[in-house]
Amino acid sequence: MGDYLWLIPLIIFLLVIFVRFILPYIVRDAVKKAAEKGNICDKCKGGMDTISETLCLIPVSFDHKHERTAEYYINNSTPIQSVEQIPTGNRACRIAVLKCRICDRKEVGVVDFLRVRDTEITESIDIFPYEPFSGFIERLPQISAAERSADKDGSSVNKFSDIL
Ligand SMILES: [Zn+2]
Repeated sequence: MGDYLWLIPLIIFLLVIFVRFILPYIVRDAVKKAAEKGNICDKCKGGMDTISETLCLIPVSFDHKHERTAEYYINNSTPIQSVEQIPTGNRACRIAVLKCRICDRKEVGVVDFLRVRDTEITESIDIFPYEPFSGFIERLPQISAAERSADKDGSSVNKFSDIL
């Protein structure tokens, strides 16, 4: 047993390297793939446009995990007007409706994030079919694409259309 004690610092060193340098790449790659999936229509390969986007609070704090399903977001999202309404440490999400330019098929993209000062740290990006969200989306106050492009406040914001 004592012969292997020297391995402990090596294991810690390798863990630090993994968490600091390798993990961020894996996460970034996964996020990019999810974003790309939302950008192209599965049916006709047409481009998908963001036609509406709503900011919502979800009852999760910091980087805690929750179910990543359409049902979870539908049942737990509370619409808010601006990022200033997000309590410190509370997670929020942007629920965007994407529509294919060619066949009009719709999808819903959800960017789940934690706001730290002026930066939005993405926890996950998921693309869901539109159908389960239809009733929920119809009840939401929505920000049109035109209003979104008008508000450029310079802070680092996870607008769905900017990620795609
Ligand atoms: Zn299409």
